[in-house]
Amino acid sequence: MGLIVQKFGGTSVATAEKIRAAAKRAIATKAEGHDVVMVVSARGKKTDELLTLAAEVTDTPPTREMDMLLSTGEQESVALMSMAIQDLGEQAISLTGGQIGIVTDSQHSKARIRQISIDRMRKHLADGAIVVACGFQGVDDEGNITTLGRGGSDTTATALAAVLKADECQIYTDVEGVFTTDPRVVSDARKINTVSHDEMLELASLGAGVMHSRSIEFAKKFDVPLRVRPSFSDGIGTLIAPHGDEHAPVVTGLALVAKEARVTLADLPDRPGVMSVIFSKLASRKIPVDMVVQNVGTDDKAEVSFTVPEDDLAATLTAAHAAIAELGAGSVHSGTNVAKLSAVGDGMRSHSGVAAQMFRSLADAGVNIEMITTSDIKISVLVNRDVAHKALQTVHDGFGLGRPDAGPPSIGFRQALGTTDPATQDSIESQVVGSLANMEDLVVSDVDLDERQSRISIHHIPDKPGVCADLFEAVAEGDVMVDMIVQNVSRDGSAEVSFTVLRDDVDRCLLLVREMVSQWEGADLTYDREIDKLTVTGIGLRSHTGVGDMLFRALAEAEVNVRMINTSEVRLAVVVGAESGQQAAASLHAVFTH
Ligand code: ASP
Ligand code: MG
Repeated sequence: MGLIVQKFGGTSVATAEKIRAAAKRAIATKAEGHDVVMVVSARGKKTDELLTLAAEVTDTPPTREMDMLLSTGEQESVALMSMAIQDLGEQAISLTGGQIGIVTDSQHSKARIRQISIDRMRKHLADGAIVVACGFQGVDDEGNITTLGRGGSDTTATALAAVLKADECQIYTDVEGVFTTDPRVVSDARKINTVSHDEMLELASLGAGVMHSRSIEFAKKFDVPLRVRPSFSDGIGTLIAPHGDEHAPVVTGLALVAKEARVTLADLPDRPGVMSVIFSKLASRKIPVDMVVQNVGTDDKAEVSFTVPEDDLAATLTAAHAAIAELGAGSVHSGTNVAKLSAVGDGMRSHSGVAAQMFRSLADAGVNIEMITTSDIKISVLVNRDVAHKALQTVHDGFGLGRPDAGPPSIGFRQALGTTDPATQDSIESQVVGSLANMEDLVVSDVDLDERQSRISIHHIPDKPGVCADLFEAVAEGDVMVDMIVQNVSRDGSAEVSFTVLRDDVDRCLLLVREMVSQWEGADLTYDREIDKLTVTGIGLRSHTGVGDMLFRALAEAEVNVRMINTSEVRLAVVVGAESGQQAAASLHAVFTH
């Protein structure tokens, strides 16, 4: 017997029929012996309709009245839901945010939760009722109704699941679950049974529309298993929870971002502060920069490449030219018609050769890799958009992702929790509420310094399919775990690849790599036995252009030279000389984690 939170979004309660279907689901869960708390959104397009209506009445709706208005959408839903449940013969009670005891600050339309009391919900559950809670709303200290921002019912559901220590927070929606990749592009894409919170965050573009990243990050922090489930069928959906230790798949899913453009700033001075100038220019124009790649400089020159949404290219070029004007050196290059393909899997942390396998699949399909960046659980490559769908299918096949699922679905229920003593419950509440308070601002959650890495670079390698596959296969055959891979855009028909490996492995790795390099005419190799890697982790690195700006500004002020950069959806990693690692870490802690 556990406690299940079930959240129904607008489309899942749009009609009387759908409301009754949702009610039956809650009743069925209760019949299995669980306590059930439903969190319900406004029906269908209700919230949008109310916004339109307000705009017809006035150009300047007071925010207090706006929240009074919008909150009625959820109120309508919970009342109807409770009636439906009672009509089906089960006890239920609908509660507004205020009635539950969700207290927020007074920032109407984007209020932050300050306090959640669970007593009233617990009492109704103990009396045998299904609690039907309004999503998206609370009250401030004065009893004014507030709302949490669009899509806020996910926030309510994850927050209630966290304070109630629910066994599962089920999010009902109009999709079967999360797929290995976009089924409209890859016909044998398969629904995933289990994906970890980290994987889901890295697969943001796959999950987009299913759930907000910040709710996933929040669920991760409080160890809440989430389950995305279809409301139109009995499908078990996708469980978002840590994989059982030995079961982490090497690759869980693939994401494709099609409308990207790439920009390179070359011939830059290789000294502290250069990246800061560039990223402050981009941040001030609010350009969402993705996939940043800086390879080690050669001949005292640095070079950085990154992708931006194609629609932002013009603004980006203006910013880039402003940056080189200020630096007094550099050149700007760009290309359109590219797409970003990413493979994500927790198992990459412990398996070598995953990158090699991905590069081999691409090589076999004749796809050239234009840029590479990695994180501990993700490999992203930039390819020509014309071959992006072919590339996606090929990599999907290569990792065997289309195979039917083996074994029964894993169940996310926690171990029986027993009775919670009131003191622990209080501290859980205050922790949950404390984190909720800055959920929106939550950008960086961790800064990490890794002082165990070496760097190897291969310069002037042929820019053609199969080269990276050969290189990383050779490394994987020697059982060397490659940590961070960076390849930037080639400009004169030859590419440069750098990667990091543990210092203990560097000699063995150099032997393997030297042999490869000798086969490529004109290629040469450099390495650094000791480099330090700094990683900044958090959500919203992509949506918060300010993070890159803050990071590079902090390093510039500490006079640390950035030698390499790579990024993922939730991580920004930089390589610096071993002599400045400590200093760099201190300056990043000062700005991000103070
Ligand atoms: N009804 C609100 C909205 O449409 C909250 C939600 O659906 O999550 O944004
Ligand atoms: Mg909605």
